Amino acid sequence: MDFRLSPAHLAKQEEFRSFAAAEITPAVEGFARDNIQKAAARGYLGLPLPREWGGQGEDFLTYILLVEEISRVCGSTGVIIAVHTSVGTFPLLYFGGERQKRRYLPGLARGELLGAFALTEEGAGSDAAALRTTARPAERGYILNGGKMFITSGGEAGLYTVFATLDPSRGSGGICAFLVEKGTPGLEIGRPERKMGLHGSATASLRFSDLWLPAENRLGGEGEGFRIALSLLDGGRIGIAAQGLGLARAALEETAAALISGAIAGGPVKQGVRFALADLYTRLEAARLLVYRAAWLKGGGYPCAREASMAKLYATDLAMAAAARCLDLWGLEGARETNPVARYFRDAKVTQIYEGSSQIQRIVIARDLLKNMHPWEEV
Ligand SMILES: Cc1cc2nc3c(=O)[nH]c(=O)nc-3n(C[C@H](O)[C@H](O)[C@H](O)COP(=O)(O)OP(=O)(O)OC[C@H]3O[C@@H](n4cnc5c(N)ncnc54)[C@H](O)[C@@H]3O)c2cc1C
Repeated sequence: MDFRLSPAHLAKQEEFRSFAAAEITPAVEGFARDNIQKAAARGYLGLPLPREWGGQGEDFLTYILLVEEISRVCGSTGVIIAVHTSVGTFPLLYFGGERQKRRYLPGLARGELLGAFALTEEGAGSDAAALRTTARPAERGYILNGGKMFITSGGEAGLYTVFATLDPSRGSGGICAFLVEKGTPGLEIGRPERKMGLHGSATASLRFSDLWLPAENRLGGEGEGFRIALSLLDGGRIGIAAQGLGLARAALEETAAALISGAIAGGPVKQGVRFALADLYTRLEAARLLVYRAAWLKGGGYPCAREASMAKLYATDLAMAAAARCLDLWGLEGARETNPVARYFRDAKVTQIYEGSSQIQRIVIARDLLKNMHPWEEV
């Protein structure tokens, strides 16, 4: 058993850390465009894509190290990259036909085209199979009607993987996935949501009004959409777990630095404060092990639904707990809106909600556990 990252992973981690420190600026409003352009120029928007499609051919763990390091500086940029990669680009890589891949993957890999994933609707969040957006078969294609809400990079993305049903009475079996380009007639993007956190990540609703799509824009077979959506969630959740890890680190490292430098007043660091730091750091290391292990499983092609959910649950809950506890340690300085830890606090809260809330992760873990108590003996 070897708990170290490989020399190649360590080199990449160092590269991402230096890049994030030198070039990523915390984005506090609008859309983190500059950060995304800088990351794209380095090939980071196609990091785990095969070279034949214009990507960097790196493994899944390397991509996770990238999301962690970027999120350590800017959670908004972290989620834009994570969503673009895990659920914006992978659907095409895994389920796209040759023509679809040729048309979109190189642009996605270069970051010229940003990918988005449009599943959630009013009344269909955790219970995604209840979605009501319809896809009616029509001349040489489909006509979409309905709407989506809280879509990351809504309005900024060039390509949306949209889930719609042929017939709501068929439940998950009627759902199809479609590729919808920005600018398609019948697609209307709502105003950006004003969120409590992740202010540099645009989130918007989508409306489809008699939006016609050619049949070649269907991803996978008819009725395969729900399976496609579910199969992407493991990777998506590990990406958000890495975002949580980056945010937890940010809160802890900056608070520790402020204690060392005296920026947090109060004289010598008190025992209670030391204990709080020790507990959080211990949990941070536990989170790191969960996240990297889940990424390693995913990269190796092993089943990892439970591990992805455990990593997401633990790392995002920790991000929230670490930011909250660290803010306490800052005293009144923690109440300033401009305090970076206050930003991590607001960003962390959102990570507990998307890609499946913490409650949904617990459901996945328990369901898997009750099927098979000892999965760790299998890998
Ligand atoms: C900033 C942001 C970005 C997002 N980006 C995207 C995106 O790019 N694409 C996309 O498709 N969606 C996106 N979402 C939507 C997100 O995935 C949903 O918000 C999430 O799935 C939860 O759904 P909901 O908000 O409808 O909550 P609900 O499903 O209504 O849940 C409400 C509460 O009930 C709990 N709950 C629900 N069911 C159960 C159950 N069976 N047992 C116990 N508790 C339960 C939940 O945990 C939650 O606490 C985004 C959301 C946010 C906040």
